[in-house]
Amino acid sequence: MTDPAALRAKALEIHRLLCTVHGCPVPYFHSLDPLSELVSSLLSHRTRNAASGAAFKALRRRWPGGPDAVERAADWAAVRDAPTAEVESTIAGVTWPEQKAPRIQAILRRITERTGGLSLDVLNELSVPEARAWLEELPGVGPKTSAAVLSFSTLRRAALPVDSHHHRVAVRTGLIPASLAVGPSHAVLAAQLPPEWDAQQVYDNHEVLMLHGQRCCYYRDPACDRCVLLKLCPTGQVLHPVREEEERARA
Ligand code: SF4
Repeated sequence: MTDPAALRAKALEIHRLLCTVHGCPVPYFHSLDPLSELVSSLLSHRTRNAASGAAFKALRRRWPGGPDAVERAADWAAVRDAPTAEVESTIAGVTWPEQKAPRIQAILRRITERTGGLSLDVLNELSVPEARAWLEELPGVGPKTSAAVLSFSTLRRAALPVDSHHHRVAVRTGLIPASLAVGPSHAVLAAQLPPEWDAQQVYDNHEVLMLHGQRCCYYRDPACDRCVLLKLCPTGQVLHPVREEEERARA
């Protein structure tokens, strides 16, 4: 299926069905200020949530925000100016701390140069596409991170992040071709959602597709036999009959 109107209708039906399973609106899991969300997102790349969450807390413990700091923020100026080896050892539990420590510091320095301080309040004055472009000019920041900062932080903007679970479900259900990588899939999947949707609805869309990937459409052996999307899903319709035949053969 390549007809854009048909794909938009399918995306809406997938959203509706998954909302019946996972419950919409989905509560926001973070209330971090945008800069803290940016650091949290950078730490989480290819890292389990528990490990990236522990690393974020370790940064806050090592360089606590002062009494005037935004709630739950670290002293990001102190992180920026600390010896890189010290930042690296503090976030040692994440994947590639030797790359993430200098990258986080480089980003903090770049934000300081661009804004004259360490605040991302500038994003409040920009449209979502402008704010994403602003963030993606920072070293190592791609579409997933820019969308996460805008959506998950206290900014609560209508930006769609796509993680590997979300992407897998979108490919298997035929919303996007398998050849479309996670990065460029952001624009395609966002364009399938109604432009009038608010931040919560866009967030819900990401959350329910991600949860579906985590809890049903597994990377290996997806549970098509109990999937609410089976009738809509070309992959499931290929996999499921095979599984039934196997079960009959085993009986
Ligand atoms: S039918 Fe199977 S492949 Fe399709 S979305 Fe559901 S679990 Fe994934």
